Amino acid sequence: MKVLVLNSGSSSIKYQLFRSEDWTAIASGMVARIGETEGEMRLEWLDADGVMQRDQNDLAVPSHQEGIDFIVETLQSHGVLGDVSELSAIGHRVVHGGPHFKHPVIVDADVLAELHEVIPLAPLHNPGHLAGIEVSRKHFPSVPSVVVFDTAFHQTMPPTAYRYAIPEYLYTEHRIRRYGFHGTSHHYVAKRAAELLDKPLEQCNLITMHLGNGASASAIRNGRCVDTSMGLTPLEGLMMGTRCGDMDPAVPIYLSKHLGLNAEAIDHMLNRQSGLLGICGVNDMREVVRLAERGNERAELALGMMTHRLKKYIGAYYAELGAVDAIVFTGGIGENSAEVRAGACAGLEALGIELDAAANAGRADEAGLCISTAESRVQLWVIPTNEELEIAQQTLATVERKRR
Ligand code: AMP
Repeated sequence: MKVLVLNSGSSSIKYQLFRSEDWTAIASGMVARIGETEGEMRLEWLDADGVMQRDQNDLAVPSHQEGIDFIVETLQSHGVLGDVSELSAIGHRVVHGGPHFKHPVIVDADVLAELHEVIPLAPLHNPGHLAGIEVSRKHFPSVPSVVVFDTAFHQTMPPTAYRYAIPEYLYTEHRIRRYGFHGTSHHYVAKRAAELLDKPLEQCNLITMHLGNGASASAIRNGRCVDTSMGLTPLEGLMMGTRCGDMDPAVPIYLSKHLGLNAEAIDHMLNRQSGLLGICGVNDMREVVRLAERGNERAELALGMMTHRLKKYIGAYYAELGAVDAIVFTGGIGENSAEVRAGACAGLEALGIELDAAANAGRADEAGLCISTAESRVQLWVIPTNEELEIAQQTLATVERKRR
């Protein structure tokens, strides 16, 4: 049987098709520029001989409806998907589940109503997700749809970690609190870390660092998230590609009062023009490192700021957890940038964190890469994330639980 994972944005739908017997990704792709005069469609799939094939075109995709039709037709015409009855379930990634969703759920009218209800908390993401879910439910009325939330893994945080020190009614009436994001990734690498540590996840204390263009850290005690760096939105916490992360909350007030910027302009500045880009003019870590190696002072500063903040979060979460079995690096930067990992761990030997420089220079494959010395009390791991696989597995588990 097969599980289809859909990640629908406002103008794109990314997808992956898994064979659930061995969890091989047999196809993946995207339709993009939905609603524009020229669209974009890409598909990679494994043919009958197990050889990866590619197809792409730029036909217009007027709406999510045509996008889903297109995905199904393409999968069928290339022989990756036969009859729709081959699909056990469809998993949908949803960025924001609000305060109520603690686990993946099968989509029904109540779930759709709740997802509409939390749109104000994720206005850029949830409307696109909803469009994809509603269209795919119409297309596959006989296949269960499951929503898997980026926020769900963090729902185990205690109020001491998730509440903001602002007036009570903002929480009770407006649901303003820390939610956290990248939960599917933090959960996936935490489970993999437990396997690598050869311990049940329920006995593992971990600090997981998802460092991509967006970045977040989580503190995990006995397998459950107790704190995370992103907040009401994915703007809080670590310094990111184009997002500022933590700063004095008075900065937006200052920008409004003294530079006359309105809410949209401040939102754009802090989400899209800040972070690495704001400091050194580029947001791709490969380029930042290249520039820093050539002595570019702004790039050196950007790299230094990013690793300084990573270290602050490692320290804070170490103190919160009391004891740490492992720190895990994942995401495009966490998996690939030896410089960032070295900067984050430098000088932490007194905490039992000892990086092995030679191991850190290696490349992590799916199995994971241990980058700590044999003496390090805290193990350091690079574990490639696989959010789609995690969504597919959670989707099938949710459907099977319901059947029992
Ligand atoms: P993600 O959002 O997880 O896909 O991560 C994307 C980011 O990973 C890019 O913006 C790059 O900054 C970073 N990245 C990807 N490959 C490398 C690499 N080889 N070295 C350093 N950073 C990388």
